[in-house]
Amino acid sequence: MRAIRRFNVRTALPEPLAPLSDLATNLRWSWHRRTRDLFRDMDPSVWEAVHGDPVALLAGLTPQRLEALAADGEFVGRVHDAARGLSTYLTAPAWYDQFSGEQPAPASIAYFSAEFGITHVLPQYSGGLGILAGDHLKSASDLGVPIVGVGLFYKEGYFSQQLSADGWQLENYPLLDPDDVPLTLLREEDGTPVDVTLALPEGRTLHARVWRAQVGRVPLLLLDSDVEANDDSARELTARLYGGGGDQRLQQEMLLGIGGVRALRVWSRLTGAPAPEVYHCNEGHAGFLSLERISELVTGHGLDFEQARRAVRASNVFTTHTPVPAGIDRFDAQLVHTHFSGTAELPGVPVDAILPFGAEDYEGGQQGIFNMALMGLRMAQRSNGVSQLHGAVSRSMFDVLWPGFDDDEVPITSITNGVHAPTWMDWRVIALGRKYLGDTDVREAIGWERIGRVPRGELWAVKRELREQLVEDVRKRMRASAQTRGASHAELGWIADLLDPDVLTIGFARRVPTYKRLTLMLRDPERLKKLLLDPERPVQLVIAGKSHPADETGKKLIQEMVQFTDDPELRHRIVFLPNYDMRMAQTLMPGVDVWLNNPLRPYEASGTSGMKAALNGALNLSILDGWWDEWFDGSNGWAIPSADPAHGTESSTMDPDRRDDLEAAALYDLIESQVAVRFYDVDAEGVPQRWVEMVEHTLSVLGPKVLATRMVRDYTTRLYTPAAIAGRAAADDDFALAKDLAAYVGRAQEAFPGLRIEHVEADGVTDTPLIGDKLTVRAYVALAGLRPDQVLVQVVHGRASESDELHDVDTTELYPVADLGDGRARFEGTLTLVRGGAFGYSVRVLPRHAGLANVAELGLVANA
Ligand SMILES: *Cc1c(COP(=O)(O)O)cnc(C)c1O
Repeated sequence: MRAIRRFNVRTALPEPLAPLSDLATNLRWSWHRRTRDLFRDMDPSVWEAVHGDPVALLAGLTPQRLEALAADGEFVGRVHDAARGLSTYLTAPAWYDQFSGEQPAPASIAYFSAEFGITHVLPQYSGGLGILAGDHLKSASDLGVPIVGVGLFYKEGYFSQQLSADGWQLENYPLLDPDDVPLTLLREEDGTPVDVTLALPEGRTLHARVWRAQVGRVPLLLLDSDVEANDDSARELTARLYGGGGDQRLQQEMLLGIGGVRALRVWSRLTGAPAPEVYHCNEGHAGFLSLERISELVTGHGLDFEQARRAVRASNVFTTHTPVPAGIDRFDAQLVHTHFSGTAELPGVPVDAILPFGAEDYEGGQQGIFNMALMGLRMAQRSNGVSQLHGAVSRSMFDVLWPGFDDDEVPITSITNGVHAPTWMDWRVIALGRKYLGDTDVREAIGWERIGRVPRGELWAVKRELREQLVEDVRKRMRASAQTRGASHAELGWIADLLDPDVLTIGFARRVPTYKRLTLMLRDPERLKKLLLDPERPVQLVIAGKSHPADETGKKLIQEMVQFTDDPELRHRIVFLPNYDMRMAQTLMPGVDVWLNNPLRPYEASGTSGMKAALNGALNLSILDGWWDEWFDGSNGWAIPSADPAHGTESSTMDPDRRDDLEAAALYDLIESQVAVRFYDVDAEGVPQRWVEMVEHTLSVLGPKVLATRMVRDYTTRLYTPAAIAGRAAADDDFALAKDLAAYVGRAQEAFPGLRIEHVEADGVTDTPLIGDKLTVRAYVALAGLRPDQVLVQVVHGRASESDELHDVDTTELYPVADLGDGRARFEGTLTLVRGGAFGYSVRVLPRHAGLANVAELGLVANA
């Protein structure tokens, strides 16, 4: 075979158009319509052909066209306006400037994620996790939060989906050429590409180059193993998101975590950017970043492994995203062993010290497994789930790591997801706000409470336009899809009548894991058919979703759905669109009236698509799971009753078939008796007043909550800033606190099993206690070698139930008052009875150290 050397010839822009180059590479255009319009107007047909990709557009224009535009004074004026606008956006004071003035806030935060969904042009995401990461970066940019993203560059991205004639999912992997996408290669000062390396087993070395995407103010570094220095298999390592088997996945994640930290060091060296003070691990995939950080501290600062580990944990933040066991990233421990021993050993990080981080070493855990979620939790002093319900579910799911503590003390908090409004709100909705609400800023929901000023008729007219835009998009996509599925031209006639811009439109689109129940609506096909074809109050459904390529069950569900929608009697009212992606979502969510979500509670950690729909005035119709469990308020949509009898945080014990039957029936009932009735209840002007009232309520009350700016502010105030403070405290004075904590942990782990509360006594309360009485509690503790100031002794008190459990629990500290000799001490404290009814209390001893963030942190406790 002939070795072909290829390179891309980039279009040289005429001087007056030079700013277009920055405007195309800064991804701010993906959420800034005026910049997109500028590119589109350069040549609308090329823009269409390149699917709205500015870099591809510039490459696709002829020199003649570019010269003509350069000579067009008006166009050049627009270019310069846009460039000024971008520069203002990048430098204007933002929320963080003020926040960091008041707080010792982090100078920089590294945000690691296996996927990033920023624009359809960079298909580096499979679903919600990646889009959330993209929205996180965009909102950080809006707020001026100094984040740097770290990920991998997948040249084949995630797959693009087509359908076969019989409705089976087909996968294509269009090759992305990094020269044709808005990425810049990171180079050393002498111009050579940055080379990040990683030791692999058998003496192999993995090389990676680093691409930078610029997301507004936020840089995103993407490692890419497709370089000549690698052998063929190493070159393919980062080819596909979630591709390949265990080896490949593990090496991808090593490159992401370990290589990612190395890339950050190069980034700081080349740009002078401050080193991150906080490391946020978005899901477990990047968890190996902790090992590289430990290795740095061991080799560079002379710490031992335990000391380094304590310092690293202080400034790590971990976010868990799924309560579905199959969704958790797990490796064969033997594979991990091979990859972190011998020539691949990380300096200062012995493999035997690594394996316990991922071990499922508890009852019910699996031997020989390395679990990345467990490593994430064990390696971060601060962690969270992504909605309140998911926080509770995670506390119960992972409580095995904190034995001896009740679930509500498990140190996993929650920050509910949000979405980036400028990306997800249709411009028509934004324009309507600008017209009537005075001062507005979609990024911060400013002015939305005045939504009542928008004339209802006009709001309703905009919703119709959005529906119509969706209908047109659906027809275009279905024409293309029908052709790839083998339909002849003559058979496409029906598509002209596909969907109706005046019919109640329900959307359902998401990945297709089983728990999301794509086909729940098909449970009673006759019932669904009746809803679709109702002569007075018809309903139409737009459905989309990709199944993971290895998930045959998901593909069967898609096939079942597609075959249902192929029915000539129904197909004008229900459609499955292939290749769900961000671009489709940006038309689909604004175009629907109702966004449907029917997951198996409580498996939907948050969900975000319903939030995007809400920002465009759609009403949610959903199982009370994820974010909807938190923010459904009775007037912003509908809750599908969950048939789960427990209805708690545990998954159901009910027969799944019966549960599906009940929940599907409830769904049909709601649509028929409430949703459709209200939608078609119009006044003389054709406006459904009561419906629009719900839309207004959704926009004004729910809108501000679902914003990713709210989410990023929450992360910044509740997790990043405390982590930065803890990280600094751990590192100050040559890591004095981290060293002391490591020594303390060792001592506490030895002492706690032998620590005894020998005797508890109380007085101050009569036989007939009254509210306001004071109870003095004394505890005699044998400290097993710890000093009295090295433990925290507490009375845990509250309402006592019949079964001797405590509710509405509070704690009161007992202080050491007497040294009793022999390593024993008396602790004493007083609490006031503030509530009537049965009162109960008990005493416990906990570790105490200035380097601990939480009493449960070490999983050590001695109860009386
Ligand atoms: C928002 C979005 C998702 C996530 O949807 P969920 O509601 O979290 O399931 C997935 N894919 C695309 C293309 C999206 O825009």
